Amino acid sequence: MSTAPQIQKEWTPSSWREKPIAQDVPYPDQAKLNQVLGKISSLPPMVTPSEIERLRHQLSLVQRGEAFLLHAGDCAESFDACTHENITNKIGLILSFSLILIWGARMPVVRVGRIAGQYAKPRSSGTEVVDGKTVLSFRGDNVNGLDPNDRVPDPERLLSAYFHSTTTLNYIRGLLTSGFASLHHPRDWSLNHVRSEVLRSEFEKIVDGLSDALDFAKTIGVESDRPYEMGGGRGTLGEVDFYTSHEGLMLPYEEALTRELPVPSALKAREKHHYNTGAHFIWIGDRTRQLTHAHIEYFRGIRNPIGCKVGPSMDNEELVRLLDVVNPDKESGRVTLITRYGAKKIDTHLAGHIAAVQKSGHPVVWICDPMHGNTHTAASGLKTRDFAAIIEEITACLRIHTECNSRMNGISLEFTGELNDEGYSVTECVGGSMQMGEEELGLRYQSFCDPRLNFEQSLDVAFMISDFFKK
Ligand code: PEP
Ligand code: MN
Repeated sequence: MSTAPQIQKEWTPSSWREKPIAQDVPYPDQAKLNQVLGKISSLPPMVTPSEIERLRHQLSLVQRGEAFLLHAGDCAESFDACTHENITNKIGLILSFSLILIWGARMPVVRVGRIAGQYAKPRSSGTEVVDGKTVLSFRGDNVNGLDPNDRVPDPERLLSAYFHSTTTLNYIRGLLTSGFASLHHPRDWSLNHVRSEVLRSEFEKIVDGLSDALDFAKTIGVESDRPYEMGGGRGTLGEVDFYTSHEGLMLPYEEALTRELPVPSALKAREKHHYNTGAHFIWIGDRTRQLTHAHIEYFRGIRNPIGCKVGPSMDNEELVRLLDVVNPDKESGRVTLITRYGAKKIDTHLAGHIAAVQKSGHPVVWICDPMHGNTHTAASGLKTRDFAAIIEEITACLRIHTECNSRMNGISLEFTGELNDEGYSVTECVGGSMQMGEEELGLRYQSFCDPRLNFEQSLDVAFMISDFFKK
């Protein structure tokens, strides 16, 4: 194999179109698709270069071990679940989780939600059999419908995805600027949902401690003049930041949201970059990270911080070549590697990946996704994940990084604060402090994609990680 550096051809937002593409969506009506894409490309950006640059900077702090990254949300959002309650509960859970980490680890947490655009799903097969009939697989709300009779890809759904994303984002910005996210009111985020006495009292202890700390800081006059991350205005000690992300799977959509814009004036006057304005952070899935294919081509040219899933099929050398392509200047904060091997496989792969990246000199943020390598089908036929396997992968990840003189810089979770009408959490993963059994999965299984940790199970994970960093 040649080791000579490869000369990259010029990048444009559409240069990915010349490459083979994995997980492509076969639209029957190309003219309609182009019309919709034209419309999306004329609509306003959802996020701004200054927000994106700020996240890049914050991720460089994460990479240096000065902050922790929390990447979390649904496997897939749906248009129907875009409601006031669901969004509030999701943000509440992300805030509660991060507060536990901040309190235990005494480190800032960078919060990136899988939200406001996480509508596309990769599939292992293009078709599936439903009630004895072969139909196209469901690819997420921005492609086709969950209903087996609604599986023809419809370009109009991309426009709907844009508007559902902006609606979600608008509501999040509202929540953040109207005091909901203020660290002065953490009781507003979650306690109603936490049914376990132990978890409730652990969380209460943190909230009481935090209240005291904030009062003390106010009394002695400590106020931060850090700019407010989303929504403008000036931040204070009691406020938090929040960013959005999704898998950058549908390249025609991502291209339509890519704009060449000046970098914020405070950074470098007159310099312009291509920003993906549909989210602050987008990631490459485990099924679309082929080095010479379309997704890597698209991702290498955008200025946003990006993620890449790394699973058991990633070869050490391939990982370094991927980093060379997407981050040739080895910039800190640009790339986050989201490792997802499964509890049984992490020991075989992670140390080799860390060693290869260390030798290459690439600065990366390493985060652990303990969800995607730990999915199995329960006897009832429901897809589930075992809480014990999730904890096992996180524990192994923390240990292996330490052994390799590296650091687990964050966590990537599929969780939900969603409740049913009676206020009960979902039942999609087994185990946790609430000891959910397999036979209970059917009670409130609401995911139409991968199974998510519920409120209590998520807080269990938060306390476990927080305890590790406390030591
Ligand atoms: C996901 O994050 O929902 C996903 C599909 O992950 P992966 O690409 O790692 O399989
Ligand atoms: Mn998933």
